[in-house]
Amino acid sequence: MKKDDCIFCKLANGDIPTNTIYEDEDFRVFLDAAPATRGHCLIVPKEHFDNLEELDDNVAAKVLPLAKKMMKLLKDKLSWDGFNVVQNNGEVAGQTVFHFHTHLIPRYKTDGQNLNWKPQKPAEGEIEGILKEILS
Ligand code: AMP
Ligand code: ZN
Repeated sequence: MKKDDCIFCKLANGDIPTNTIYEDEDFRVFLDAAPATRGHCLIVPKEHFDNLEELDDNVAAKVLPLAKKMMKLLKDKLSWDGFNVVQNNGEVAGQTVFHFHTHLIPRYKTDGQNLNWKPQKPAEGEIEGILKEILS
């Protein structure tokens, strides 16, 4: 299903032009308009899903193999030094476009980017507490 007012539905399905590096029946992969690095692109399914929670399992199963394929293409063409695969869900997690997508971010020694979080020091017993909560 497509969603009428969704920009990524239009981009993925070719209703609005994109800088496409790959397309098949399920996905379009195109260059991000505000890239973190050289070659930053997005894997976008042609069907609309708001986020990973909503994503169809059959589509989900194709995302990582496609990420791997694109990673290899970008390695051959752009000679990256490292690679981040990023996928945001929800505003608090940095999602700004509410059509599921996966960021492919080639990394270079001098790119000056930092996608890292600040590691926290959990209190005594906190991790065990979380484990109990998750497994209960
Ligand atoms: P996120 O913050 O994970 O939802 O990522 C949305 C991404 O989509 C951002 O990196 C934007 O730069 C990118 N983006 C938004 N609109 C366009 C567009 N029309 N063409 C290409 N990339 C876009
Ligand atoms: Zn959409």
